[in-house]
Amino acid sequence: MELPENRAYDVVVAGGGPVGMMLACELALHGVSVLVAEQRAHGTPEPRTLTLHARTLELLDRRGLLAEFTAAEKDTADVDAYRRRLANSSARGHFAGLFLLGRDGATAEQPRELLLSRETATALLARRATALGAVLADGTRVTGLEQPAERDGRAAAGVTVTVEDAEGTRTLRARWLVGCDGGRSTVRKLAGIGFPGTPPQTVSWIGLGTLTRQERLPTGWHRGERGWFMRMPDGRISTTEWDRPVPQEPPTAREVEESIHRVTGERVTFTEVRHLSRFTDSTRLAARYRAGHVLLAGDAAHVHFPAGGQGANLGLQDAVNLGWKLAAACRGRTRQLDTYEPERRPVAERVLHNTRAQVALMRPGPQVDALRDLFTRLMALDDVNDLLTRAIYGTDVHYGGDDAGGGGAPRGGAFVADRPLTTDLGPVRLAELHRDGRPLLLDFTDGSVARAPAAPWRDRVRVVAAPGTAAEAAVLLVRPDGHLAWAADAPVRPEDVRAALTEWAGPAADPV
Ligand SMILES: Cc1cc2nc3c(=O)[nH]c(=O)nc-3n(C[C@H](O)[C@H](O)[C@H](O)COP(=O)(O)OP(=O)(O)OC[C@H]3O[C@@H](n4cnc5c(N)ncnc54)[C@H](O)[C@@H]3O)c2cc1C
Repeated sequence: MELPENRAYDVVVAGGGPVGMMLACELALHGVSVLVAEQRAHGTPEPRTLTLHARTLELLDRRGLLAEFTAAEKDTADVDAYRRRLANSSARGHFAGLFLLGRDGATAEQPRELLLSRETATALLARRATALGAVLADGTRVTGLEQPAERDGRAAAGVTVTVEDAEGTRTLRARWLVGCDGGRSTVRKLAGIGFPGTPPQTVSWIGLGTLTRQERLPTGWHRGERGWFMRMPDGRISTTEWDRPVPQEPPTAREVEESIHRVTGERVTFTEVRHLSRFTDSTRLAARYRAGHVLLAGDAAHVHFPAGGQGANLGLQDAVNLGWKLAAACRGRTRQLDTYEPERRPVAERVLHNTRAQVALMRPGPQVDALRDLFTRLMALDDVNDLLTRAIYGTDVHYGGDDAGGGGAPRGGAFVADRPLTTDLGPVRLAELHRDGRPLLLDFTDGSVARAPAAPWRDRVRVVAAPGTAAEAAVLLVRPDGHLAWAADAPVRPEDVRAALTEWAGPAADPV
């Protein structure tokens, strides 16, 4: 598309992958002007299938997107195969290729997952972002940024972003620039943010095309003495090998044939190649998530081996954590934005940790055979299975202190689970009250506790009385990303309600 000249935006998002699009949805929902610059032309095919896990699905539900995603799953070719693979067990997911996670009755939350192509997921989010007013600029590459130097640790005011498209080079002004431009992030490099981590031990190829003598190759996932071979029902094939040099040139069909030979012993020819890419277990985390008015989210901030299908989930959850905070910062309320990195970096660290563990547990060799056998038996223990399931499904994410448990109002940070509510609006699910992305003040008393003190925040905070619904406290203030901001037991003092709203939604007198 042709960009308007000299246009200033609240936020420019570099990269229109799933994370950039999710962030655009969140920002546009709050009325923030946002442009997404995506270097690829519209509709560039890419046959990567993403598994979206329970916590991501809960967040999509909060924004009324889950039904569309669920409907779209039916169009994904390998869903049936995935279901078939799990059909003979009660498992719902895998750790290091051990399909044992989330056995029935083993987890508190019922884990769920959806399989969608990256393209479909991105397109659904792009459609929502556009409907909410975001500007999507395909074929537009971010190539430069300039921001005044930070002074005394204070963020500089705004960013000048250079973009290149078919019309040439131009500059855009933005209050904030967010790099959602993937693992090789240009924004991260331009902002001078380091990307420390560990170099690859594995190299994998994934391809879509025609294989000769494919009947000699097994379908599904196979761990052999030299590595992993995978053949999906939609024709995708993949190999993973350890301790080999990673070629620097673009991948070739020949490389795939050689890798299949090394791993399976079969000589095949790979032709009519429709897609071919190479990836590794290079595991890296951005040294910081923010430099002045530049932020990072998704793969731009963290990369790891795609074991367990966690990268997009992690990034989508970055976007939902960041969206409301950045929207508030665009209105001058920066307090919550300072919590983005402290909340999200530890979550990424944990994912990097568990993917490193999975790579170790996937390695060929008799020692690892023994370890896998032991792990299989450990995963039959409910507590172990629960711990791993919650890690992969993202349902262990908690910002802040532990719940008090054993009495007293819960402490902030836990995800507030969806539930049916009987409210002054009628029966409704908690998730449905979050569609507009505003903080949610739920009053479980007779409704008199929150309404009067919250009145000055009415434009910014949704106040709902749910008398008669059992809850963990008399009043809950739920953040736009579904995590608990504040809770109080009866008797609730009006000044405490006002203090909590000031902390989480800014002073009452502020403009919306
Ligand atoms: C084989 C494989 C399987 C995977 N399976 C899963 C899975 O099942 N579940 C899961 O959660 N994750 C999975 N992942 C990881 C997942 O694909 C990524 O974590 C996810 O795509 C990251 O999203 P993103 O939007 O941050 O980055 P990307 O998807 O990389 O998107 C970045 C976008 O930015 C654009 N861009 C780059 N540079 C610029 C620039 N300078 N200017 C403008 N645009 C730019 C790119 O064209 C791209 O569209 C898998 C990864 C691989 C390799």
